Amino acid sequence: MPITTPDTHAETSPLAAIRARIAHAAGLAARDPATITLVAISKTKPADAIRPLIAEGQRVFGENRVQEAQAKWPALIEAQPDLRLHLVGQLQSNKAEDAVRLFDAIHALDRLSLLTALARAMDKTGRRVPLFVQVNIGDEPQKGGCAIADLPALLAEAGRADLPIAGLMCVPPAGIEAAPFFALLGRIARDHGLDGLSMGMSEDFETAVMLGATHVRIGSALFGARPAQAQ
Ligand SMILES: *Cc1c(COP(=O)(O)O)cnc(C)c1O
Repeated sequence: MPITTPDTHAETSPLAAIRARIAHAAGLAARDPATITLVAISKTKPADAIRPLIAEGQRVFGENRVQEAQAKWPALIEAQPDLRLHLVGQLQSNKAEDAVRLFDAIHALDRLSLLTALARAMDKTGRRVPLFVQVNIGDEPQKGGCAIADLPALLAEAGRADLPIAGLMCVPPAGIEAAPFFALLGRIARDHGLDGLSMGMSEDFETAVMLGATHVRIGSALFGARPAQAQ
């Protein structure tokens, strides 16, 4: 008879496995796992792929396109009103009002023109949506996010506009160790007295948790791979 390794995880769903890994990483860093929000990134995934996670108790989801979210989420939220929706990735100023109406947090503030548009949208709608400032932590020319050097001015302006800044967000450079970039984002956040740290994705969320992430944004490890052009 062949020797088989008992698969103790056979009954474990991807969601349960990710939660366990977050809790383990938090424990290593003496952090309370309850202080870490798992944002399930459902971009490109249809409602049928999302409902099983809702049934399993997941309540916080993330999308990267306003229009896609507007098509998918109102019906899901109507069926489960305690869902919370986060916008990750880039936001055009002309979509700011739609974003403020639909999302409960926006991880995409990266420039003054968008700050102005978001402030106006919040005034108009009466909604105050927590904002994460996206920082171009690896100083990559092709990548979105506020340059580290421009961050103090952007935060000062957010303060003058009385915008609710929840913290900082980053996507570190691909293909190299993420830890130094997470540590740097954490240090910059502390320097500015900000608590929220939106960092860590499917490939590196445990590292991010150990370095202080308060929000991990996990897509493919929960839902399976996306088509290459939809990354
Ligand atoms: C798609 C996306 C994620 C999730 O990426 P995975 O590697 O699938 O976990 C997280 N953050 C942002 C900004 C994204 O666009």
